[in-house]
Amino acid sequence: MRKPVLFCDFDGTITLSDNIVSLMKHFNPPGWEEIVRGIVSETKSIRQGVGEMFALLPSSSKEDVRRYVLETAGIRPGFPELLEWCKEHEVEFFVTSGGIDFFVYPLLEPFGIPADHIYCNGSDFSGENIRITWPHACDGECSNDCGMCKTAVIRRFPSDRYYRILIGDSITDFAGAKLVDLVYSRSHLTERCRELGLPHVPFETFHDIIRHLNEGGFEA
Ligand code: MG
Ligand code: ZN
Repeated sequence: MRKPVLFCDFDGTITLSDNIVSLMKHFNPPGWEEIVRGIVSETKSIRQGVGEMFALLPSSSKEDVRRYVLETAGIRPGFPELLEWCKEHEVEFFVTSGGIDFFVYPLLEPFGIPADHIYCNGSDFSGENIRITWPHACDGECSNDCGMCKTAVIRRFPSDRYYRILIGDSITDFAGAKLVDLVYSRSHLTERCRELGLPHVPFETFHDIIRHLNEGGFEA
């Protein structure tokens, strides 16, 4: 039997809504909506679009931006229980996030996930405007210009030894969803999995996922 391994998106998956979209809506720097449209229509790569959006914000807004996200983000029900389930069943759990370190790490802090199991983008506030850094950019196998390349993380767990499960909701999950054995999906990711005929189980809370796993969802 292959060993299950979980790769879980952050924005709109662990958190109730997408923190990048919600902070852009709130601070509303001119031009951000057009950049989002580019990302959604896939005419702009995620790396390019996210980089451009944050470059609209001055580095001096760091504390305001950070505080806004930390104060408004909510965690989806069942998240601590899923982490507990993974511990009990000795299943590795990775956060694979297209979000940014300055809000991903603090929001995850209460849950005790080891730092080497959290993948996200970085940030640099030393210049005039916010600069996003890409410590986990695509490798030679991925030409999607992901920013944080979920497929590169997933490919480190070969499919002959691992039953790979992706949990996600949207565009940052599209490339990874094509690689894995099973997708737990919400929102746009459910639509995309349906269109492409990828094996997926729609979920609303992490309790739904635990239920499915307990019913043998990961027997591989
Ligand atoms: Mg997401
Ligand atoms: Zn990639």
